[in-house]
Amino acid sequence: MSVGIFNRVLTGLLVFVLFSSVSFASSLKLTRDAENLEAYISHPKQLAVAKEKLAKLEAKTGKKPNLVIMLVDDMGWGDLGVYGGGVAIGAPTPVMDRLANAGLRLTSAYSQPTCTPTRASLLTGRLPIRHGIYRPPVFGEKGGLADEITLAELLSEVGYRTAVFGKWHLGKDPGQQPQNQGFDESIVMYDGSPKIFLSTDYKDKLREIYYDPELKAYIQNIIKKNPGLMKANKGEKAELALAINWDNAASLDQRFADYSVDFISRMTTQDDPFFLFHSFTKVHEPSLPTKEFAGKSPAKQVFQDSLMEVDAIVARIISALKENNLEENTLVLLLSDNGPDEDKFPDMGHTPFRGAKGGTWDGGVRVPAIFWWPGMIDPMRSSDGLFDFTDIFNTLLTVAGAQGKIPVDRYIDGVDQTSFLLTENGESNRNAVFMYTLNHLTAVRWREWKKHLMIAVIGDGTYAGGIGMKNEARIVRTPGQNIMNLYIDNKERVSVGAEKSWTMPFFGRIIKNHRQSLVKYPPKKKVLTMP
Ligand code: CA
Repeated sequence: MSVGIFNRVLTGLLVFVLFSSVSFASSLKLTRDAENLEAYISHPKQLAVAKEKLAKLEAKTGKKPNLVIMLVDDMGWGDLGVYGGGVAIGAPTPVMDRLANAGLRLTSAYSQPTCTPTRASLLTGRLPIRHGIYRPPVFGEKGGLADEITLAELLSEVGYRTAVFGKWHLGKDPGQQPQNQGFDESIVMYDGSPKIFLSTDYKDKLREIYYDPELKAYIQNIIKKNPGLMKANKGEKAELALAINWDNAASLDQRFADYSVDFISRMTTQDDPFFLFHSFTKVHEPSLPTKEFAGKSPAKQVFQDSLMEVDAIVARIISALKENNLEENTLVLLLSDNGPDEDKFPDMGHTPFRGAKGGTWDGGVRVPAIFWWPGMIDPMRSSDGLFDFTDIFNTLLTVAGAQGKIPVDRYIDGVDQTSFLLTENGESNRNAVFMYTLNHLTAVRWREWKKHLMIAVIGDGTYAGGIGMKNEARIVRTPGQNIMNLYIDNKERVSVGAEKSWTMPFFGRIIKNHRQSLVKYPPKKKVLTMP
């Protein structure tokens, strides 16, 4: 060991000892309201301000706020202009940029690495290790959401009208379908993309494996059972709303926008508040822009065309809220469900971070997150405060005045971020973000630091993507203290664990507490049953 490194390590250890004995307790002071609830950073003053704002608004409007989640599929952190992409990468996004500038833009919001776990976590406030939904359920498979308690169910219980339009991807079995998971109205595609409906007719349009006659028959049988968009009202049996084929696949997102716009306009005559979950199929591959958008992006690529179409659809939904004079009493979230899919060049999004969809390098899980609520959220705000998608569950329930509905019989990983969102320069209530790949805790973010417990190794780690199926990838335990500083190393290239060993006891405490919660509330090991 050279003298220089020896001195740095020695300094690190001295700081370690000081922090362990002096500052440790005060710096990690968290509040836990109940054994089954995640501990959080309490900000009593900003919470009082947020509560007062909500009370004043309710006194004025006479009802609880409406809640709208727009969830884009596979849109990267770096795709939006306001996050550094946009016109610079051949796809201007003026509507989403304006929405961000009129509200709050978060720069450290974390989803799960893939579609289905993210959706399940958002709707349950629980990490995949708790709800057990690590992958999409296949046709006929039972379990999944069936024994989970969803945001839509709890909002229904306090009088909200609830609807979901778009990609569901949370199971096809009746128990997992939206009308049995708290949604009054739903028109959804159960699958991850329209691809399966087009697969037996791929011919030369997309090269896939379905030329095999036996496999083709298998896929056709699946499609026969589930031929396209399925419509259902609460508790009813789902019916076919639209068979998906090559002629209409590109226009699915415009149809979903039709449904959401119609729902919003009908809600103006209701006394009840509403919860709308608008879930895009775009910009998941294969990108299929409608004719109106095909070739219109400066990039002249289907991905960028589709991103511009998403931008235009966001405009349709925001316009519907404004035209119906609902913006004053509606909290709008615009999110992406995971990082960009880098397996399908050039049909793919962008991120300034390392990795992509499928892994827990930041590129896979750090996503755009915009909150818009005129009069309630200050314009031109941005924050790097930590936010996990599980927080959406607790936060929306609090905004709806339904925090008392949060389950007591299971662990809830989300924390209430209402005061972070609604107060001027509000600070995050979240102490750390736990990143999982399947059931492995692979990384933990705390402040600007990120500790890797396991990493995905793919090629040289720079371009090849996340741990998508098209890449050779493996997950390995990291040697020693693999700790990155995301503020000086956004590509997570260099561990500073030896020099910054003072971070070790903080991470140690955070991980120990998390693991203890898993002892008290054991993970779900098998929730899906293959047919
Ligand atoms: Ca996705």
